[in-house]
Amino acid sequence: MGTSGMPAPAASGSWRESTARLLWHAHPARPGPEYAFLRESEWWPHERLVDLQLAALRQLVGAADRVPFHHERFAAARIRADDLRTIDDLARLPILERDDLVRLGVEGMRTPGSWGLRARSSGSLGKPVEFLWPLSQMRWLDAGEARARSWFGSGIGERRVEVRCRPVGPAQAISAAILNTSALHAPSVADPAVLHRLARSIERRPPSMVWGVSNTLYAVALALLDHGTRVRVGSCVSGGNHLHPHYRHAMEEAFGCRVFERYATMETGVVAHECPEAGSLHVPAEGLIVEIVAPDGTPVAAGETGDVLVTALRNRATPLIRYRVGDRAIAPPRPQCACGRGLPVFGAVAGRSNDFLRASTGARIGPRQVVDAVRPGLDGSVVDIQVVQDSQSRLLARVVQRASPRQEADRARIAAILHDLVRPPVPPRVERVERIDLTPGGKLRTIVSQMADRA
Ligand SMILES: [Zn+2]
Repeated sequence: MGTSGMPAPAASGSWRESTARLLWHAHPARPGPEYAFLRESEWWPHERLVDLQLAALRQLVGAADRVPFHHERFAAARIRADDLRTIDDLARLPILERDDLVRLGVEGMRTPGSWGLRARSSGSLGKPVEFLWPLSQMRWLDAGEARARSWFGSGIGERRVEVRCRPVGPAQAISAAILNTSALHAPSVADPAVLHRLARSIERRPPSMVWGVSNTLYAVALALLDHGTRVRVGSCVSGGNHLHPHYRHAMEEAFGCRVFERYATMETGVVAHECPEAGSLHVPAEGLIVEIVAPDGTPVAAGETGDVLVTALRNRATPLIRYRVGDRAIAPPRPQCACGRGLPVFGAVAGRSNDFLRASTGARIGPRQVVDAVRPGLDGSVVDIQVVQDSQSRLLARVVQRASPRQEADRARIAAILHDLVRPPVPPRVERVERIDLTPGGKLRTIVSQMADRA
């Protein structure tokens, strides 16, 4: 870890901070009471949190029972809200697939008489899904975000820079600015002029927090370091994509602070974020239940990889119960954290379910394995990498490289590494590129697999 996470001195921002704090509390949609609740409940014993979850789950299942789609499935599984006696009974409920959401749409998913803001996922996994976010859900999510930021030393109203997956139009930019936050859309950082402006603004006025998609924050960090600049921001929070070691290292160097990891989905909000004391990922359990399961829906053992299921306890407008979000994760060695908080520990994100290379042995090679073997970063020529496996299992690696006499040798090394990992039918091709295209949400996908199977 780098230097301590002390917030940067807020020399110029004090009137902005006071105004932002005032507006945060005054706004009718701002979650003052929920926030106060969460600051207490994070220290509750685990059992008390489980009781809270069970009560919320019963209400959620009761609401879902009024949706014909859920009602039929609950009837088939012979379970109703009143049958949920312990939190383990959750496992009796059927798993909700992404395809169900796509097929049913908002109209087929919504609880009669409910309303909310219409939100949609980015569609990086195929067809986008739509769902409703009721006001109550938004308040809990906002409160959870504010609590997470407070763990990382960024108080309400302190200046932040956010590089978001979601588009930032004029309305979003203004509402962010009111809260003393500069927001921009992650894909825009691929434009060198935007990147340059962002790096200069962070240098001029270091914020209490830089938050955003990991690969875009890496790009910002490199822009600063290439310029010979190191700044001192309060903390850095990475989300939206893997926090690879080379990303983390460059951010620590450039921003002069600790880098924390955050894992969220568009449909459910934050699923887990790092603990400032112990480094594990905590689930904000007051609003979510997270499971990591084998294909048959039973929990995987500690250290094993499974599918992530999320139950969003605060969204009764379009209930998401045991929703398979499309990510895989490794179950934690222990369910509790050393920090003393009762909030459960998540484990580690392994990647999107289809972001794996398939080796000739049948093994799945994840993004972390590829990065650990290739070791891109501040040393050597390799800045970043993307590996594409086509339907015939042939490999193409795209690498961004800085000027170095080792360029060619590094490409040959990468070809050898990929060949050893995957044993493809023909030798891997390694191409130098100026930049790697980002997804519509601004993510750099380290692995793109066109192999159809999903065992
Ligand atoms: Zn902890």
